[in-house]
Amino acid sequence: MSLDISTLFLVATLICALLGVMLHYFGRQEKMPALNWWGNAYLLGAITVALWTILSPIFGEAITLAMASIGFIACGMMWNAARVFHGLKPNWPGLFLGALAWLAAVASLPPEQEALRMTIGAAIVAAYAGLTASQLAAERRKSMHRRWPTIVVPLLHGAALMLPIVLADLWPSPHSGFAGNVWVVLFAVELVLYAIGTVFVIFMLVSERSVSLHKTAASLDPLTGMLNRRGFSEACARMIEREAMAGRPVSALIFDIDHFKSINDRFGHPAGDEVLKLFAAIVTNSLRISDLSGRIGGEEFAALLPCPIDEAVTAADRVREAFQNCGIEVDDAPVATTVSIGVAGGPAAVELEVLLAAADTALYQAKRGGRNRVVATVEQPVSLEESRRKAAQTREHQVVARGSEVGQAVA
Ligand code: GH3
Ligand code: MG
Ligand code: MG
Repeated sequence: MSLDISTLFLVATLICALLGVMLHYFGRQEKMPALNWWGNAYLLGAITVALWTILSPIFGEAITLAMASIGFIACGMMWNAARVFHGLKPNWPGLFLGALAWLAAVASLPPEQEALRMTIGAAIVAAYAGLTASQLAAERRKSMHRRWPTIVVPLLHGAALMLPIVLADLWPSPHSGFAGNVWVVLFAVELVLYAIGTVFVIFMLVSERSVSLHKTAASLDPLTGMLNRRGFSEACARMIEREAMAGRPVSALIFDIDHFKSINDRFGHPAGDEVLKLFAAIVTNSLRISDLSGRIGGEEFAALLPCPIDEAVTAADRVREAFQNCGIEVDDAPVATTVSIGVAGGPAAVELEVLLAAADTALYQAKRGGRNRVVATVEQPVSLEESRRKAAQTREHQVVARGSEVGQAVA
């Protein structure tokens, strides 16, 4: 089977152009600037190969050298697309640096130094491929096992371009004309495989990004930006597992804003929303970075702390006090705000449901005791049934009460 070089390059051009248009189309649809960068890189690559195929038989070597410099800009665009995809600004000097280095090399090297020129050209492509791979590798090192194609594809491309040069240096062929043709055919085939492989990688990255965005959105409460019940439960399960392995206790807090309905009724729903946002900020700022918190209901929030119950009670009281003293105003009139908090501590590997049920019972006690207070369960909850049975039977088991004695009714 004989492969016609011009036909091969025509196919490579058409494939690159088609993929470029496709990337642009999706870039516009998904409103993702990185896809437009990738699309432009493909289109520029296609134009370069097309012009080179048409013009090099007429103008010879000069057009090859000029087109190569545009090709390097396309490589720079691939790297910049990876940067933009990861939220970085495009690196404009870096985009043109390869082309400028190439032109400088061409201008300074005598014409007989063709092998050195080729080495420099391939090294520029390999450098851009390396930069692209390292950019894609830099993010989320944890999920690298799923990301290996994003690194392997550009690196293979760089290696494929360097290979003929290394081999030519190590093993100079006496039939350089024939060997040169083989390399040109392989280069065209590699170009097509790289173009298709890269689009596969791009769509893999884009779909991974959109799945993670949807996952995050499904775990967050849009009003406060905190984790919602689902996100909180998932994060807690991970924390409990981690702490259980280390044999450390965890404590759960449930917060319920006092007389919140009355705030809504007197000042309106938007003012109520502002109070919820403020409370969320207070909880987040009062807890440690290692603590978890979320909005688990209308005006109910919860937190899970990797610490014993006495430390959790101190943290809860800090939140209670900060909320009481937050000084929120609606229409220049101060709004009294208080919160009741139930705290429960559990042994290592306690189930979240068990802890929350126990903290809920304590919260009930705080409300009954006059609100604006922190109540902690004394006994450690052991099982969900036990917690529920105790809550239903008595709701009067021993409690430790802290905070102000008299709940401040808002109404
Ligand atoms: P208590 O001290 O016993 O907790 O009384 P409360 O008024 O806080 O409790 P209740 O359960 O009677 O009322 C909760 C209110 O929270 C009722 C509901 O309209 C309001 N609410 C729930 N979600 C939202 C929200 O997203 N925004 C606003 N503004 N209000 C909400
Ligand atoms: Mg409530
Ligand atoms: Mg309430």
